Amino acid sequence: MASISIALSKGRIFDETAPLLARVGIRPKANPDSSRKLVIATNRRDLRLIVVRASDTPTYVQHGGADLGIAGRDVLVEHGGDGLYQPVDLGIARCRMVVAVRKGFDYAGAVSQGARLRVATKYVNTTREHFAAKGVHVDLIRLYGSMELAPLTGLADAIVDLVASGRTLRENGLVAVEEILPVSARLIVNQAALKTKRGALQPLIDAFAEAAA
Ligand code: ADP
Ligand code: MG
Repeated sequence: MASISIALSKGRIFDETAPLLARVGIRPKANPDSSRKLVIATNRRDLRLIVVRASDTPTYVQHGGADLGIAGRDVLVEHGGDGLYQPVDLGIARCRMVVAVRKGFDYAGAVSQGARLRVATKYVNTTREHFAAKGVHVDLIRLYGSMELAPLTGLADAIVDLVASGRTLRENGLVAVEEILPVSARLIVNQAALKTKRGALQPLIDAFAEAAA
């Protein structure tokens, strides 16, 4: 029996994946939100979950540290997707990647005047491509979290971050001024593993597609 591993992150991705796992017949032996185990066995002896940082999921699957993974489109676009198949949009963890500024900041004016914008984000590749396509000059500032602080402290004019309800932006006096991408989580597959273990992986991919529909 080929052994299969699925990389995913705790928090939102695990919470929203749990019902899909149940529908696919996978019952984890621990909850990553409460356990410190990073390798979690399941009711299926051939299948285990690998708990990683959300932004590391594509890297694990690309290099074969896991056969399958569950990752947001935000991290997949930022990673670039090399070595990965993305066969199923799971329709979970939905949000939007947006450009946001302080309420009152004249974003359209700054862009039309050709001003250099200072943009803080953890999605530096996606952000660079977005503004290059618009012909807007940006200075990118790489942050790892709490992006909302950047415009409030004068570190940046704008941020690129994820929003769902918009509550965090609102509570920090920021507004979304442009959408970059609609985001949901996808099932990803190591391309080499799909060739060598297709018999084991394809039924699982089909089951996730069925469970997500
Ligand atoms: P981290 O803070 O380590 O990036 P999160 O749990 O906040 O982990 O985010 C993991 C993934 O969940 C993101 O990559 C994105 O795809 C999705 N996500 C993030 N924020 C939201 C949100 N507000 N609503 C829905 N999905 C989100
Ligand atoms: Mg987060």
